[in-house]
Amino acid sequence: MVIFKKIKDIKGYLSAKKVAGASVGFVPTMGALHSGHLSLVEKARENGAVSVCSIFVNPTQFNDKKDLEKYPVSIDADIELLISAGCDVLFLPDVEEIYPGGESNIKAYDFGYLDTVLEGAKRPGHFRGVGQVVGRLLEIVEPDHLYLGQKDYQQCMVIKKLVEMMGMSQVKVVICQTVREADGLAMSSRNRRLTEPQRVIASLIYQCLISIQTKQVSGSFEIVRKECEDILKAKGFAPEYVALADANSLTLLSEYKQDTPMVALIAAKIGDIRLIDNMLLA
Ligand code: AMP
Repeated sequence: MVIFKKIKDIKGYLSAKKVAGASVGFVPTMGALHSGHLSLVEKARENGAVSVCSIFVNPTQFNDKKDLEKYPVSIDADIELLISAGCDVLFLPDVEEIYPGGESNIKAYDFGYLDTVLEGAKRPGHFRGVGQVVGRLLEIVEPDHLYLGQKDYQQCMVIKKLVEMMGMSQVKVVICQTVREADGLAMSSRNRRLTEPQRVIASLIYQCLISIQTKQVSGSFEIVRKECEDILKAKGFAPEYVALADANSLTLLSEYKQDTPMVALIAAKIGDIRLIDNMLLA
């Protein structure tokens, strides 16, 4: 695996590969890698593409600066994991490389409705920061395929919109399924901060998603939402939202709707650790 810290170096390397006929698969991350991230790298390697992973803990997407300070960093272990996953290129820029002269110099995008609901409402400025960094990374890497995890469902929608707004229709966005622990907990870099008792109850979020899926025959989502919130609270979570939405538009729903693709989404805190998860309703 080749590691680049400078934009001009990675650009030079990738343009030579592209001239030689290679396609590029890109996986942007914030590091503290786990099997979920590695599953994206494996996808990026499909069809012989040059797989590029970036690790950059993006300060502009943290609305809560304490969350940024506590964000796990494990760069040596990440490099080992990427090598074992067969990753070809790691881009490891510093803040000055991504935001030369400060973040106000880098274009930000307006995601409209998507930035007003759920994660957008609970984390003001978060998607603005995501848009800034992913926009910047897309201009640097210019991938053929961009691999994202369904784990961050709303972020996938935001990035799809970003690609559209940037006029980069040549970039194919591939949404990959959420990799879970044996008990259903969605893998997340934040999970490593859970204490043992917190870890034991963390899979309750997944169980709530399953129950939202199972109870769709009941018609009213409001009752199911209340049940989930009560169970989460009883076990010591502070739920931020338990929501049902149209899977294509993210319009919030209070009733299950037949013939509409739906997604259930949950955000909840255990102690100061904020976890999110979602499930497409089958
Ligand atoms: P992060 O470094 O956590 O911001 O995530 C980088 C990419 O990995 C994003 O596209 C995430 O959606 C994806 N990702 C994170 N966790 C998982 C998971 N458990 N399964 C699949 N993809 C994931």
